[in-house]
This record gives sequence, C-alpha cells and structure tokens, in this order.
Amino acid sequence: MDYRYDHILIRYGELSLKGKNRKNFIHRLSDNLKKALKGFPTLEFEAQYDRMYVYLHQEDCDAVCEVIAKVFGISSFSPAMKVEPTMEAVLDSINQAIDLSTPHTFKVKARRHDKSFELNSDAINRAVATQILKNSDWKVNVHHPEVTILIEVRADAIYVMTEKIEGAGGFPVGVGGRAMVLLSGGIDSPVAAYLMMKRGIHLEAIHFAAPPYTSAEARDKVFQLARLIAPYQGDLVVHVVPFTTLQLAIYQHAPESYAITLMRRMMMRIADGLAQKRHCLAIGTGESVGQVASQTLESMNCINAVTNMPMIRPVVCMDKVEIIDIARHIGTYETSILPFEDCCTIFTPKAPVTKPRKEKCEAYEARWDWQEMVDDCINMAEMVRISFKDEVKNEEEDLF
Ligand code: ATP
Ligand code: MG
Repeated sequence: MDYRYDHILIRYGELSLKGKNRKNFIHRLSDNLKKALKGFPTLEFEAQYDRMYVYLHQEDCDAVCEVIAKVFGISSFSPAMKVEPTMEAVLDSINQAIDLSTPHTFKVKARRHDKSFELNSDAINRAVATQILKNSDWKVNVHHPEVTILIEVRADAIYVMTEKIEGAGGFPVGVGGRAMVLLSGGIDSPVAAYLMMKRGIHLEAIHFAAPPYTSAEARDKVFQLARLIAPYQGDLVVHVVPFTTLQLAIYQHAPESYAITLMRRMMMRIADGLAQKRHCLAIGTGESVGQVASQTLESMNCINAVTNMPMIRPVVCMDKVEIIDIARHIGTYETSILPFEDCCTIFTPKAPVTKPRKEKCEAYEARWDWQEMVDDCINMAEMVRISFKDEVKNEEEDLF
C-alpha cells in the first residue's frame, strides 16, 4: 500500500505527568528527538501540550520512523497527512493518498478534539466510510480491520492516519538525571543500561579491561554493545579502565576464593570515583540475585559497602530468560554471546566464596596500598564517545 504522508504525529508516554514535570518532559523529548534525527536536516518540529508533530518535508518517512521508534517518552506515533479542517479536505486526502486498488477490510475511527467541528465523530466515520465503499472494493470490518483509518480533528488542522506504531515507552532520557553503568561484555549489563535509559536516566558507561589478559576483540565487543544501546539516548560515553595492575595485586595479596569479591569492591570504588568526576548520581549494574557466586546477598553487601551512591540494578529480580528476551528485543543478545574473555572470566577462581564477609575483605585489603591504584584507574581511564552516527571518537589519547 502506498500512502503519501507529510507528517508524523507523536503521542507522549506517561500521560499522568502534570505541570512543571510535564513541561520538562516535553522539552526534553523534543531535544532528544532533534538530536536523534540530526541526520534528516529538513525536518521541522512542533511540540504541543499533548502531541508533537514532525513535518517530514523532503525526508523519508520509514527511515524517520525507525529512529523515532527508539526514542523514550513516546507511547505511539503515526505517519499522517495534514489537511485543512474541513470535511471536504478530509475526503479529498483519502482519495489522493490511500491506494484503494487492492481490496482491504477497514474501519474509520475519528476523534474530535475540536468539538465545534461541523460533524461529530460518528458522522465523520460514516462520511469517510461511505466514500471509500463507493470508490473501491474495500469492506468494513469494525472488529478486525486490516486498515484502521484514524482521523484526528484539531482546531487548526485535521490529521489522517492509517497506522499507529508502538513507541519505546518510558521517559525521555535526561529527565531522570545521570548515572554511571558498569558495562561488561555480557548479556545482563546492556539490558540493565537499556532499562535505566528507559526510565529517563542519562548514562555513561564504565568498562574494566585487563590487557593483555583481555584481548582487543573483547574490548571491541563492548564498543559494539555500546553502539547498539547508544541510539536510545543519542550517544554514549564509555570509560575504559586499565584494570590489570589492580587485578594482579588482588591475586598477589588475597586468597583466590576472595578475589572476585575484592575485584568487585575495587570496581565499585573506581565507578564511584568516576561517577563523581562525571557528575553522576548513581551506579548501575547488571547484577541479578543468585545468578553467580558474586551475586548472593552476602556478596552484594560486601560489594555495596564501599560506596554510598545509590545502586541501580534493573535486572536484579529477573529470570535469565526474561533478561534474554529483552536482550533479543534490543538486539544485543547476538553480540553478548560472542566468546571473548572478560576480565572476570580470566581470573575466575575455582571455588569463589559465596558468603563473603566484609571484615575479611577489609583485612585482605589492609595488606597493600590499593588507594593509589584505584586513583590511577580513575585518572587513566580512556574516554570514548560513541556518537549517534556510530563512529568511535577518541577524545583523549590512547593510554594503553
Ligand atoms: P553481565 O552479563 O552483565 O556480564 P554477569 O551475569 O556476567 O553480568 P557478573 O560477571 O557477575 O555477572 O557481573 C555483574 C555485573 O558487574 C555486570 O552486570 C556488570 O554490570 C558488572 N561488570 C562485570 N564485569 C565487568 C567489566 N569487565 N566491566 C564493567 N562492568 C563489569
Ligand atoms: Mg559478565
């Protein structure tokens, strides 16, 4: 079917928002959309209290829709034709823009926001349906139509649409503040990042690499994952932390069974430091209770004890299959399962402690001066911005 659309009508999510919050929401959504659609220079945007309109001008409707589908804060959107607010114009637009040559079942659903319009919704439905029936072999089916023709009557214009595409939901990224997410090459943390962004949190990511024990491929895999989730917020800054020295020190000074717990505590200290440096108010992880030895509540207690920042663990109570479903939905799963070693897998002890004790962690850590190593990790982290056009720019020199 071939329709000629000149607009996209966008419906906001979380409609319960009121007053200043709502203004903030709309403002941010508008900014995020413009940023995400930077590649389409002739687009024009108009934000209203309950809708946003994107004027397509010369841009390709499908390509624009593909981008809009990833922007949080949108409940649904529809390619639309904008016509004069008269019944005559509506009927004209149907004739011109809908290809009636192939038969379909249909229904018409009109909504009057402007109650002063010459016809009420029922009468609009009937007028449009009558015209389609007269000019084609289309048939009405009110329960399961193949095509639903939506007609939205506003005071200044009428919008004619034939589909309603589900939006990404959630809040516009940025209304929820900033956080630092720990991004490994696994399945869980990209999903956690996605879910945080969906609640309107603007993220930066931190990745711990231990070259030469971890390879360039493992590092590329993380960038690839970052590239897949970056479009949800426009772009994404990834901090790559050179973790080797600290990790070797842990193995040198503490028993193998505590290595993972101590490593996680160091990761948290570094994440805390970088988060503060980058004005983030929380730390996010892909931890999920019970999944591995380091994700028992005892373990989480030991790990959490080194930071006062709020920890956000979006997948903490999800089953693995639920997490995998989301990973597939956002397209990260296939990349996550590529078999490259992570800094955690390289040093995985044969029998990690499942119920670590904080006092023991502290006793082992008292054996060497780790603070300086932690500071080095924070200061030597390499910062890479994954931008909306997918290219990776090094903002600082490569420090490895
Ligand atoms: P994931 O699938 O996200 O790797 P996981 O099930 O493998 O998680 P762990 O390896 O125990 O679980 O890691 C728990 C969390 O710690 C991860 O979700 C991630 O947030 C963080 N993390 C682990 N390794 C790294 C790393 N090398 N760099 C950054 N964050 C990491
Ligand atoms: Mg992992």
